[in-house]
Amino acid sequence: MKDENCRYCTHTTDIMEPVADMEVSTLYITRDQTYRGRCILAFKDHKAELFQLSPADMEAFGRDLTKSARAIYDAFSPGKINYAAYGDTYPHLHFHLVPKYKDGKSWGGPFELTLGADPAGIVSPDELTKLIEQIKRKL
Ligand SMILES: [Zn+2]
Repeated sequence: MKDENCRYCTHTTDIMEPVADMEVSTLYITRDQTYRGRCILAFKDHKAELFQLSPADMEAFGRDLTKSARAIYDAFSPGKINYAAYGDTYPHLHFHLVPKYKDGKSWGGPFELTLGADPAGIVSPDELTKLIEQIKRKL
């Protein structure tokens, strides 16, 4: 099931660019790179909750999440990756994968959810392409 008003169903790239198609999801990188390597993993179908996935899809989504996080970790060597799923205003199952760096922004606390809150965090298309390649090499 797709929702034509949903950015994840329509693969709208206003805030992000696709990195790779995974087993049951798409990995995106956000244009806002305040947290270097920040990505979003979105499930292939318009499901709002984890419990709406079949057991097979849940397992595959878990593999996608793990593989994506490991690639981000290997590419950027953060101190920790933060995982977050909200979706109040975009109820399409997606996880924020946010690398945090020791003594860097928001270390020891929640990351800043709002993308583009700090315009200085928006990277150029060339820089984004380089970051995409860095992640893809580790997938
Ligand atoms: Zn959707």
